[in-house]
Amino acid sequence: ISIEGLKKIFTTTNNRITAVDDLTLDIAEGEIFGVIGYSGAGKSTFVRLLNRLEEPSAGKIVIDDQELTALSTNQLRVTRQEIGMIFQHFNLLWSRTVKDNIAFPLEIAGMPKRAREDRVQELIELVGLAGREDAYPSQLSGGQKQRVGIARALANRPKVLLCDEATSALDPETTNAILDLLVDINAKLGLTIILITHEMHVIRKICNQVAVMDEGKIVEQGDVLDVFLRP
Ligand code: ADP
Ligand code: ADP
Repeated sequence: ISIEGLKKIFTTTNNRITAVDDLTLDIAEGEIFGVIGYSGAGKSTFVRLLNRLEEPSAGKIVIDDQELTALSTNQLRVTRQEIGMIFQHFNLLWSRTVKDNIAFPLEIAGMPKRAREDRVQELIELVGLAGREDAYPSQLSGGQKQRVGIARALANRPKVLLCDEATSALDPETTNAILDLLVDINAKLGLTIILITHEMHVIRKICNQVAVMDEGKIVEQGDVLDVFLRP
């Protein structure tokens, strides 16, 4: 992932907010890359730009040799499948079971029913939810809900997994279990993980590289061991 001069300016009736300010960054394939910063630093906007939920005001984003900013709507639909995303509040469909939540992106992608069922079963095993296939989200713990979120994000075999405060709603023990799962997935699938958080211990636990954001800018970047001393 190569990001160059990325900028996002929000214009409201009485002011202009530069949420992401001239951001340049390279993330290697297979990396677990952390982005840390206080609330308001621009982290969510950065994620939304990466996922093309927001249009940049300037700059470019290249993922796997494809410039996101230059893609047509149709190409964008395909490229979006290459980016999976998980959220702080899981964003599950509450009226669907675990397996139907995970099947949802496969349905949208047009995968036939039989292939879908096989893929869902594979994903359920990957994230450790065997036996919970027919449960509804309201019957699951926070950690189990996030496992569903992860399985759903991986369904279409993305090359990048974006994690936006994905453990912020979880207790410390569950946070550790989810982070262990992300490490496991990174090793097994070799996909790139970008982890956005305001919690330093999350970065310390699993990231190789980190960028520190403040007021839309990267103020520090490098090996986690150099940027923060481990405890
Ligand atoms: P973080 O995720 O680090 O908390 P955000 O990306 O949410 O930071 O916000 C960065 C800045 O941009 C904040 O000042 C926020 O108020 C502003 N901002 C974010 N989204 C919008 C928007 N849609 N319109 C106007 N301002 C926004
Ligand atoms: P979080 O901190 O959990 O990332 P936010 O409260 O920053 O969530 O943002 C929630 C939504 O509100 C986002 O879609 C963001 O773009 C939007 N938003 C954030 N700040 C502003 C703002 N100052 N004006 C308008 N929209 C905003």
